[in-house]
Amino acid sequence: MSVRTRFAPSPTGYLHVGNVRTAIFNWLHTRHVGGAFVLRIEDTDRDRSQKEFEDAILRELKWLGLDWDEGVEEGEHGPYRQSERHQQGIYRRALERLREQGDVYPCFCSPDRLSADREADRRAGRPPRYAGRCRAIPRRQAEQRMAAGESTVLRFRVPEGSMVFEDLIRGSIHVELEQVGDPVVLRSDGWPTYNFAVVVDDIGMAITDVIRGEDHISNTPRQVLLYRALRAAPPRFAHLPLVLGADHAPLSKRHGDTSLRQYAAHGYLPEAILNYLALLGWAPHDHGEVLSREELVARFDLRKVGKSAGVFDRAKLDWVGNQHLRHSASARLAELALPFLQSCGDLPPEATPFHRAWVERLMDLLKESISHLSQVPESDAVRMVLHFDLESLRRDPDLQADLREASSREVIQNFAKLLPGDRPLDVETFRRISQETGKKTGAKGRGLYHPIRVALTACGSGPELVRLVPLIEEAAGLDLPHRVPGCAERAALAARLLGGDL
Ligand code: GLU
Repeated sequence: MSVRTRFAPSPTGYLHVGNVRTAIFNWLHTRHVGGAFVLRIEDTDRDRSQKEFEDAILRELKWLGLDWDEGVEEGEHGPYRQSERHQQGIYRRALERLREQGDVYPCFCSPDRLSADREADRRAGRPPRYAGRCRAIPRRQAEQRMAAGESTVLRFRVPEGSMVFEDLIRGSIHVELEQVGDPVVLRSDGWPTYNFAVVVDDIGMAITDVIRGEDHISNTPRQVLLYRALRAAPPRFAHLPLVLGADHAPLSKRHGDTSLRQYAAHGYLPEAILNYLALLGWAPHDHGEVLSREELVARFDLRKVGKSAGVFDRAKLDWVGNQHLRHSASARLAELALPFLQSCGDLPPEATPFHRAWVERLMDLLKESISHLSQVPESDAVRMVLHFDLESLRRDPDLQADLREASSREVIQNFAKLLPGDRPLDVETFRRISQETGKKTGAKGRGLYHPIRVALTACGSGPELVRLVPLIEEAAGLDLPHRVPGCAERAALAARLLGGDL
């Protein structure tokens, strides 16, 4: 039987990176072995489920590059939303069967009663579980109470004894059933619970491999019992180790950004996030860690997923992010970086092909040193090119001291005179007049280029000048929200400043 997996998010919030990692492992496994990947929306929590979150989940998974064979848009095992399955009576019919077999019974315990029981368990040092108080209520009596309108849930009768189930990652898991309280399968509002709906759906959708977070291990014995009661073979299970924060506590808001959309908003490339999250719990064998989507699919091996938790490490994400950026076409990066430059007012809202060509050149320079695109507006290059500020020299005592040296002044004044004022400075001309300035003044190496750098950028260090000069000259010719002076104007201003009092 070919493999069928599913990712089953609840649309009660945006995708958390831990959940995204689960989706990625399901997808990689399915694409690696060949099979069908199903996307099911688990929206039985009527108070917290929202269509807006469902839309965001689908959008974000697509952004990441995941695709699914069956889901709310299409598929033969639908519907794929639990709310619709509920309306079609799918859970009611499964429940009927359990009722006929005597596997479920009504429970009238109030929430207060149950929490008192839990408290008693806690005080006695026992794991909390339903004590089975309503198990023995005779059927006739239970029916009368229900007919009288008493609030009730339905519980599944867990048998006595023990059970073992296999987990691909954790091996055989042995469970004493007396530790497992009878789970609620139908809530008092008539909706199925997670444990029941998930089993009915995984059977209905012919799921063969359930790959999900380790936090669901404790649910698995109940689910295996429900499979048996519904006369279906359980799927294979693989429970993925948790994703932890740097302090080894479960990843939460306390650790900073935890939702996929936050990383997308920072401008990480989707393939970098896919690559990084695939490495949380799995490591490719004998290959580098920087892998494309296709390489991940080719190499992923669910059997190689380890038991130990993955630590979400922002520094490593940044490293992977940089590796993917530096191998991406600058034209693509320019399109992705444009909105960041527009939203901070560096570029106009209506970008022309000239603006785009300039951002592409900028990305040629920046892609080697950044990990995500929100770093573009804050970069040294953007500051030096678009926000040239000679006044800042007055605030920097070290640069002032450098420039006060007679040789620096001479270099800048000679360089300024040699600059062509009537046409943009190209790299060839820049090289030639820098050398000429050197000859005239006798300055060499840092003694020559440092003053030129300060004059053109108002900074003492930064990217190579031959890469900055074309960016400055091109920006000076663009229609921008802030006027950008070209090299000739910058050098003239610096020369004038040095002639006066610095
Ligand atoms: N809706 C459940 C969750 O998001 C699915 C768990 C499962 O995969 O069984 O945790």
